[in-house]
Amino acid sequence: MRLFPEVIPNWIAGVEVFSESGNTIDKCSPHSGEVISRITRSTSVDVLNAIKAAKASQTEWAEVPPVQRGYLLHQICNRMEEQQATIAKIVAKETGKSYQEAYGETGGAISLGRFFAGEGQRLYGRTTTSGQVDKYAMTVRQPCGVAGLIVAANTPIANVAWKVFPALICGNSVVLKVPEDAPAVGWVFAKILHEAGLPKGVCNVVQGLGIEAGAPIVESADVDIVSFTGSTEIGRWIAKTGSARLARISLELGGKNPLVVCDDADLEHAVKWVCLSAFSNAGQRCAAGSRIIVFDGIYDRFRQMLVKAVSRLRLGPADEDDLGPVINRRQLDSMLAAIETAKLQGANVLIGGRRLSEEEYASGYYMAPTVIDNIGRELEISRAELFGPIAQLYRVDGFEDALNLANDSPYGLTACIHTKNFDRASHFVQKVRAGVAVVNAGTYGSEPHMPFGGYGMSGNGSREPGTEALDVYSELKDIYLNVDRGRL
Ligand code: NAD
Ligand code: MN
Repeated sequence: MRLFPEVIPNWIAGVEVFSESGNTIDKCSPHSGEVISRITRSTSVDVLNAIKAAKASQTEWAEVPPVQRGYLLHQICNRMEEQQATIAKIVAKETGKSYQEAYGETGGAISLGRFFAGEGQRLYGRTTTSGQVDKYAMTVRQPCGVAGLIVAANTPIANVAWKVFPALICGNSVVLKVPEDAPAVGWVFAKILHEAGLPKGVCNVVQGLGIEAGAPIVESADVDIVSFTGSTEIGRWIAKTGSARLARISLELGGKNPLVVCDDADLEHAVKWVCLSAFSNAGQRCAAGSRIIVFDGIYDRFRQMLVKAVSRLRLGPADEDDLGPVINRRQLDSMLAAIETAKLQGANVLIGGRRLSEEEYASGYYMAPTVIDNIGRELEISRAELFGPIAQLYRVDGFEDALNLANDSPYGLTACIHTKNFDRASHFVQKVRAGVAVVNAGTYGSEPHMPFGGYGMSGNGSREPGTEALDVYSELKDIYLNVDRGRL
């Protein structure tokens, strides 16, 4: 049985439709390089149809009491659970990650849906006092209107859920631009929403390229909020373009996340977590630990242990593999180029640094897990996100140097410290400039009920998900009730 159609359509106004362009884009398997589907190549005409459908359905959706919207979200989650294996197979096929990882990611998406389903029974405003006699003050949450959602492909079902569920519970209708590297994930998600009974037009999905199918969402005056997960470069363009028309913009962007290993750390434990932080999902995580900051006293020993552990990582698409390929050829080539440049600047590649050329990998986009050291702190490679399985080692002479280097970054998404010292740990989590700070584990994204976002170039200050996402997807309204005692 096919997991998805040969040509992946849009979902507009509750039906599957192809782009008016009649064109398609090939989607390749990251594991084998083969074309596995074709994507309908949407243009601004299709996007405007989707926005129109979203706008037309929004008032009615907003009329559904939030508690009932929540029940519908639970129905959607039930269906996702029933079809968890199918969703996971699609995620695995389109991203090249293992089925087991894809299954876990799908579970995360369902947990997030459950959380926001429950928020339908809360969606609190505030009741407070007024400065006037016989006047009463409160706030209520109301929908923004049409939410334009644009996401990256790295953890596609989670990325989609992270935005669609909070947008829906708040009473918005949605136009979702699916990543061109994970088209069927967006398609199957929309299918499940409709099967579960979401009214037509409330969630529309457009397929295609960013510039053709994403940009018109950002530019449309009928889109009230744009929420974006992706690169800082595109995020900056979205911020500029959306802000010019005074739309609300929420940006979840990149990271160059530090993981500090102190001289008192449990080194085996630290090695394990560096491997998970840097290499899981082939390093394609905004939260990936890519700057490994190691105290001088243990540097040589730690480096040796890490390289040994990395030499044992297994690559491939199977459940027993540690990491799979990266998402596309372009991504692979840009990492290889960055490494070549760093080498010319004196960087030392300790392991990896190349594309896998062995027969079973050669046609896929496999980057060998890579460890580099002797890298200037000011070099481009020390500051820019690479978004792949690359760990960069830095030697520091003590705690202060480590904290300074951790904070010497244009980004500030996640950070981690390995130490047994309470004072080092406590000081670090307070002073590190990052939206997430972790002691003795990995640079991981946060849980569905917790806010996630970063400082600096990692975003524009918003936090999703958690209850904080409700602030992103709703307008707050003050209501004042005035009593006239003469009419009592
Ligand atoms: P990207 O910015 O290239 O693309 C992301 C999405 O934006 C895609 O759907 C793409 O089609 C679309 N897009 C591209 N150009 C557009 C335009 N002009 N207008 C509107 N949409 C456009 O990102 P990527 O390379 O696919 O993903 C990797 C990036 O995503 C990394 O930087 C990573 O850190 C980031 N990311 C961040 C988080 C987070 O929560 N902070 C999570 C996952 C990924
Ligand atoms: Mn990109």
